[in-house]
Formats: sequence, C-alpha cells, structure tokens
Amino acid sequence: MVLRRPPTLRATTRSRWGGATLLASALGLTLTVPFSPVVGAAAAEPDDPARGLASTKGRGPATATRVAEPSRAPVVRRAAAAPSVRDPLVMPTSYPSQPQLRLYRDNPDDAADTPQLLTHPDLAPQLTEWMKSSDRISTQVVGQSTEGRDLYLVTVTAPEREEDTAQQTAWREEIESDPVAAAADRTLQAQYKTPVWFSANIHGNEWEGTDAVMRYIDRLVTAPESEVGSILRNNRLYFSLSLNPDGRTNATRATALGLDPNRDMITDTTPEATSFVRTAQAIQPIYSADLHGYTSVLQVEPTGPPHGSNYEYDVYLPHNYALALDVEQDVVAADIPGNTYFNTTTGTVVPANTGPETAHIKIPYRDTPSGWDDFPPIFTAQYAAFEGASTSTVELPLRRGAANGSRQTPERARVNVAVGTQTIMSMVDYMTVPTHARDMLRNQIEVFRRGAAGEPKTPLTQDRIAAVPGPAQWKPLWDAADDQDPVDLPRAYVIPVGDDQRSASDASRLVDQLLFHDIEVGRLTADTAAGGTTYPAGSYVVDLHQPKRGLANSLLDLGEDITAKVPTMYDISAWSYASLWGATVDSVGSTSDAAPVGATTPVTAASSDAAVPESGPYAFDVAGVDDVRALNAMLEAGVPVSLLADGTAVVGSSSRTAVGQVSEQFDLPVRQASAADRAALEDPSTRDLEDLTIAYAGTQDERLSFSQLGFDDLVPVTGAGIQAAAAAGTPTGLEDADVLWVGSELALTEGSAGRAAVQAFVDAGGSVLGRGADGFDAASTYGLVSGTAVDGNPEGNGIVAVDTDAESFLAPFGMDEAFIYPATWFTGLGEGTTVEQRYADDPLLAGHWRPTEAGTGGSDAAAGQASVVSGEAASGARSVVFGTSVFFRTHPKGQMGQVGRSLFWAAGEAPDEGSGPKVASSTTLRVVKTGAREYRLVVSVDTGDAPRAGTVVVRDRGAQKRVIRVDTDRVERRTIRLGPGRHVLKAQYGGTPLVAPSASGRSVVRVG
Ligand SMILES: [Zn+2]
Repeated sequence: MVLRRPPTLRATTRSRWGGATLLASALGLTLTVPFSPVVGAAAAEPDDPARGLASTKGRGPATATRVAEPSRAPVVRRAAAAPSVRDPLVMPTSYPSQPQLRLYRDNPDDAADTPQLLTHPDLAPQLTEWMKSSDRISTQVVGQSTEGRDLYLVTVTAPEREEDTAQQTAWREEIESDPVAAAADRTLQAQYKTPVWFSANIHGNEWEGTDAVMRYIDRLVTAPESEVGSILRNNRLYFSLSLNPDGRTNATRATALGLDPNRDMITDTTPEATSFVRTAQAIQPIYSADLHGYTSVLQVEPTGPPHGSNYEYDVYLPHNYALALDVEQDVVAADIPGNTYFNTTTGTVVPANTGPETAHIKIPYRDTPSGWDDFPPIFTAQYAAFEGASTSTVELPLRRGAANGSRQTPERARVNVAVGTQTIMSMVDYMTVPTHARDMLRNQIEVFRRGAAGEPKTPLTQDRIAAVPGPAQWKPLWDAADDQDPVDLPRAYVIPVGDDQRSASDASRLVDQLLFHDIEVGRLTADTAAGGTTYPAGSYVVDLHQPKRGLANSLLDLGEDITAKVPTMYDISAWSYASLWGATVDSVGSTSDAAPVGATTPVTAASSDAAVPESGPYAFDVAGVDDVRALNAMLEAGVPVSLLADGTAVVGSSSRTAVGQVSEQFDLPVRQASAADRAALEDPSTRDLEDLTIAYAGTQDERLSFSQLGFDDLVPVTGAGIQAAAAAGTPTGLEDADVLWVGSELALTEGSAGRAAVQAFVDAGGSVLGRGADGFDAASTYGLVSGTAVDGNPEGNGIVAVDTDAESFLAPFGMDEAFIYPATWFTGLGEGTTVEQRYADDPLLAGHWRPTEAGTGGSDAAAGQASVVSGEAASGARSVVFGTSVFFRTHPKGQMGQVGRSLFWAAGEAPDEGSGPKVASSTTLRVVKTGAREYRLVVSVDTGDAPRAGTVVVRDRGAQKRVIRVDTDRVERRTIRLGPGRHVLKAQYGGTPLVAPSASGRSVVRVG
C-alpha cells in the first residue's frame, strides 16, 4: 500500500477553546459528562438575542405506557410483506416538542444489556427524564424498525416559538428551492440555525455510537447555559439514536429483514433506511456523521477514491477533510486510555501514540488509496452528501471482544464510547467556528444553485484544485485516482408512457421512487418531440435543472466503467434505476439546452393506470413487478388466469369483480382480450397458471424478492434439512411445492435420501429454477440442464449488456441490461439445454470487473456466454437458471419481474378440476428424409383408450418450430424443411384435462 504523506501535526492545544483542552479521558462512565467550556469560539457565532434560551423548563410527558418487547417472527413477516412507511416526516412546529414516548419492557436476551451500553428499552426513559427537566431537548418518533421498535430523532436546540420555527423552515426551503435568493439573503445567513446531524448504530452490532450520542446529549441538556448556550442558539443538533434497534437488540449487523440497511439507501426495502432518507430530507444537514465500528483504529472520512461522479466534490471536500484533521488532533490529544493510533508511515494500527508518526487516526482520503470509497450513494453518509452536506462515516476502534466476537466487552465499550463522544464534540466544535458554519452553509446553497441552474457538471480534477476555495489541507493529497470522471448531464430523463414503455407498472414504481427521493418529476401536457422521438402526453419528465440534480442523475444515469481506475471497490460500482428497475427511461438532450423538454405539470405521485373494460375476456401485460403481484393476487383469489407466450395474461369474463378489485389495488391497466389473445389460449405454449408454492434454498434476497413479487406461499429449505427429513421419513418441504428455487448451495450427496427426494419431486413434474452456479448445479444434478457453470471474479460487479434470444420466453418485455455481483455463465451446454439469453460481446456497461489475479473470470471471459438457460426433463419438469444477480439486495426490479414470469413459465399447469387422475401418455418422434432439405416428421401420441385430441409442439434446439394438432388418428405425419446445420428436434404433447403431457426423445438431424 502506498501511503500518502501525513500533514504536519498541529499544536495539541487548541486556541479556540480559550486554552482549555478538551479531553475525553476525563469523561466519566455515567451519563453526566464533564465538559470543557467552548464559550470562546461559540460566542463569536451569529447570534440573535430574541432567540435566546427561554427560562421555562421542559414540559415532559406526564405518563408513559409500557409495551411488551415485540415477538419476532410475526412482525418480520408483516414487515416483509408491507411496503415501508414512506411519507415525509412531520416536523415540530415549535421547540421543544416533547411527546409522550412508548416504553419498552426489558428483554433478558438483549445484546446491549451489558455494562457501558444502553439497551433500546433504556432510551425512552432517559429521554423522558431529560424532557421533564429541560426545554433544550425535543424528541420525535420517525418510524418503526421491522420488529416495531421506535426510531428516535432527538433535537437539541434553544427553544423556538412557532414563528421562529416557521422562519427556520422557510429558510431551509429557500436554501433548496431558491438558492439564488438564499445566497443573497443576509438575514438567513446570519440567523439560520446550522443543522448538524449525528446518527448511530445502523449496523446493529456496532453499538457504542448510540452511547456516545446519548452521553453528548446529556452534556448539552445538563451543562450550564454559559457553556452551551451559544451552541444551542446557533445550531439545531439532531441525533438519530439508533438507526437499527432490532440489530442492537439481536446483535446483528442487518435489520430483522436480514438486509444491511447501510446498503439500502436507494433501494429502500427496509423501513430503517426509509426513515433515514426521510430524516435526511427533513433536516437538510450541513454536516452529518454516522457512527459505526470497528476498524481497530478510529476512522473518520472523507473517503479514498474513486469519488462519486455526481458530487460537487470541490464544495464537499475542503471542510470535510479539515474537520477530520481537527478530530484527529483532538482525539490524539485526549489520550484516551486503551485507544489505538494509526502509524501513517507504516500503515499499521498501533497500541500507543509514541511520536509524530503515530499521532494519527485513520482518514481514508489520506490513508486508504483504494477500497474505501464514496462511489455508490447506498450508505448513510454518501446519501446524505446529496443534501449538500459534508458527511462522514465514523468507525469506532475496538472490535467486539466477547462471545467469539459477537458481543462487546465493557472494557472495549468504555474506550469506544469515550472516543465516539470526543469525536462528536470535536465535530460540533468545528461547526461552531463561525467561518466554518457560514462557509458550509454557502456551500450547500451553491450545490443547490448549480443544480437549479442546470450548470454543466465540472468534475474535480488535478488541474482545477488550485482554484478551489476553502481549507487547503486536502490539496497535496489529491491525485489522478481522485479525479472525478466527467459526467455529461442530459437536459432531462423521460419515462415514456404508451407503447414505448416496457412496463407501465415498473414506470409507475420508478416515478414514485424518484418522488420519495425528493426528485422533481413532471408530466408532459401534450405530445412532445424530443431527441428524435415523440413522447405521448402524460410521459414523465425529470428535468435536470433542479436543486437535487446530483442525486437525480446518480440514480438514473448508467454510470461508468471504472475497472481501470482502482484495483478494488468497497461495494457496488453501478446501480442505475434506468437500467435496472424495469422501466424504459430515455436520456434526452444536454443540460446546456436552454429549453426544457416540453411543457410539464409537476406530479406528487405516479398517476393511476387502473382500468377495466366493460366486458371480458380480460388481458394485461405481465412485464413489471406489480404485474406479477397483481397476477398472484388473482390466483390467490382463485381466478383462473392463462399466460400467453407473449407475456399477456388472459382472464375469463366471469371474473370481472376480482379483476376490478386487483386492478384497483395494483393500478393495473386491464384491456379487453383481443381475438389474437383468445386464439392463443389454444396454443400449447399457453400456461394455465396456478397459485404457486415455492420451496427455496437461498437468502433474505430470495425471501424478500419473492414477497415483493407477491408469492406468499414460500417454504424455505436447505440441503441438510431435506436430507434429515427424507432420512427420517418426515416432510421435506417439497411435498406441497410446485417449484424448487435454488439460490444457494443445495448439496445432497449421490445415493442420499435427500437426493432421492428431490429427484422424485422432479420426476413428478416439479420444476427447478435458480440463480448462479448453485442453481445450475441443482438443475444439472436432477437432469434438467447439462453443462458447466463458470463464476466470474467474485469482486466483479456492475451493469451488463445482455442479448435475449428472439424465441425466448424472456423476449416479450425483454431487457437489454442486467446486474451482476458476480456474473455466472454457462458453457459446454448439452442437448436440450437452451440458451435464453447471453452476455453481449462487450458486456460491462458500468461498474468494476477485472479478472482475478489468476487472470480468469473477467468480463472478457463472459463475452457471448450464456447468461440464462433453460431445460426440461422427460417428466415435463422445467428449469430456468439465471447467471445474473436477479435478486441482489432486492435492487434489480426489472430482473425480479423476469423471474416472476419464469416461475410461471416453468411451473406445472393448474389441474383441471374434477378431471380425476390423468392417464399417462407417451410421445414419439421419427424423422424420415424425403429430399435434399425435406424431412417428414412422424409424430405419434399414445394414450391408450383415452381421448388424445390436443396439440404437439415440435421444437428445434429448444425453439418452437411447428405446432401440430393431433386428433383421433394415432399417428400424424408432417413435412418440414430444415436449413443447413445440426438440428435437435423434440415433440411435446400438451395433454388434455384427462391425459398427462409427454415429450419425445430427441432426434438429431444434420443437413448439408
Ligand atoms: Zn458499520
């Protein structure tokens, strides 16, 4: 690792504290924190005596009710099924705002129930105590965790009358919506209370941030006014105490849904991340820090490269780095017993500060050349930066030392809390230097001004840094890897409605998602020509001349291929909604275009597409996630639904009531089935659907993705579980399943009872689908596909170009892009294994994908290889295996919708009621050469004495070639012309209500 040279250490006594050194080593272990005066600096803040501390004490809630700790399983199920609460926060209209808080019973298994740490049930009583005694503190409940624990936002500030709060709100809105006016508004700049935000514990088993925040709040609430009055008058200090109280309680990094909420800021499946986004919008912080652990030594951002291309990094970085250096100096000076240090010369963590080389914490911008970046806005700090804030992810030092690293020891917690408290104090101290607060407020205004003006995005690059104003300590460290890539901003993104939209439901979801992220969206008032396309009236337009254009473009732009830029990335390197969320989105014009794309009216929600014609039969597209949900809702209600090969669902006229209800519930546009739709009902490729029960081996990504698609009959299985049950003769979970989905390893040894149980499931017509090598191995083991699954470099991730076979069942509403992390492809495919989709010749569009050190598994190796394959067993069981990462963190909604259709394509059909057991059939296919290129196919279907009227589909290498109607004769002869090359022919009899389907063996013919 090449280390950057550290800056010279400053003097250890800080003049702006009037000579008082603030040492966290002096911190007591109780909640009352000895605190050195900060008056010297803070007194110089812009100050309005009219907004001084009122003499009234806090009202405090009179009584409180105690509620039981939630029981886990049912609430997790409920939360997984229900969309998160996504409404904007309702903020207080004056301060203090001191509502009664719910109290929680102690939980004997609480992982935070240890000396030095507060449990979630400890929080509300402590807040209640403070509210009784102080008018400096306000509390809000800003959502509930998955398991139903309140998420608290605490505001500490001097009291405000209603008119004061209204004025602060007006200024906050002016900063965003009219930045030019805000930049000229001297009253605003003198009297706007600086919003500074600390959040903690989003990783539930990184506990001490919460305790550090609580200790600092105690100080603010209890210190004499002479010490903190200026801070309270000039700032609103916001504290999100625990962003993941379920994880805090259960000692898990993830939320109770199993997802990492600090990767969920733009997918927003967890209520915890949803609450964070809404809080960021409501606060609009100028500085924010999110406390984590543990990196062996205190770590404070800014990050190393690569830097997200859409940040106004020249505005963001100078103070952020200067602030981190101040934290470093303070923490080193505090000499907290047990704390660790970073030797910037050797790049190692050391147990003691022994000189200038070790007088450091870790600052990734300075100390981590690669692998700790701010590229994707999926993390708290990187998301909040789009609010125009300088932000930091703070990693507390000492790792979990108890219970095999699953719990924290009191000794280490004591150190981490002291370090965290000192860090927060130093950050607030930085923000209370008047020039810093004014500068950073102007920076936030400038970010919104550039966006609203639609200025071209200027990347921060080496040749520009000399001219960047503000603190300059960062400048000598900036190098080529730090250079932001150029971004060509379009004038707008257009989300068309009508025939050019791949999925109306995915488009609606996308519009609502953009609105949730405070992105301005309008609708065209008339048909509008732009970029060579005429967009129908009602099409959605995201004009990039808007304050949060940085966030808007980051969410919608494809992104960049940054493979060459750095050796490794910390996490994902591409995430585009436009590429991955299933809706057609066009990039139109350039931000320098003077005129917007047509006249629009702003929207506050996607318009409803719900519609049902007067009479049936009914038809709708199964393209997007909500279409699959709607389809599942109909099946759940017992409505017979047929799915045509072109992706159209058809429902009979008698189901009008149910169709109307589902249309209403899911905004589903339903049309009258066309004559072609009705004729296609007789096609053997049409599936009569049933309400599927899915047995699955996989992760939370499977469970949550299936839930979002509306599949609610889910049976989690494992290889070990199937083996144990099969050996014991108890149910394996496959008994009621229609399909088995394999998203993680399903290892069952040859000859085992478990293997036999799965084979019996397949032999009875049960389909096996899945993703990745594990999915392919399972499908291969049970005879549904053959070939080899190849995994790409496990670190490779991004958006890839894919080509779907024109004959594929995935071709209707097909997608040209997919997400991989990592990619898997399938080679050496045997007869009967059909390629549905391939990686394009140059697959990586955006992201980071190198070969491994062995030189294998790079994007070149995947070029042209199969990305989705299918197969079929003699029993009629089918398989579809995805080599792309269809369920990754529930993000690629477009691919999720394709999985939904695959499940229906592969699953067996609904049995006809009352038909009784089906008679077995057998199908044979013979090929007789009658000329140079002409062959006669002889197809026979044997059903014994049962009637056999129906159709036979002839497939050539898996693609449908000919449909033959069979009637009463036992043998059908058809002539077929075959082009040069090798043909693999197979005949499939679709069956009748009384006769089971069957398929012939394969006939291989070589022509020419
Ligand atoms: Zn963390």
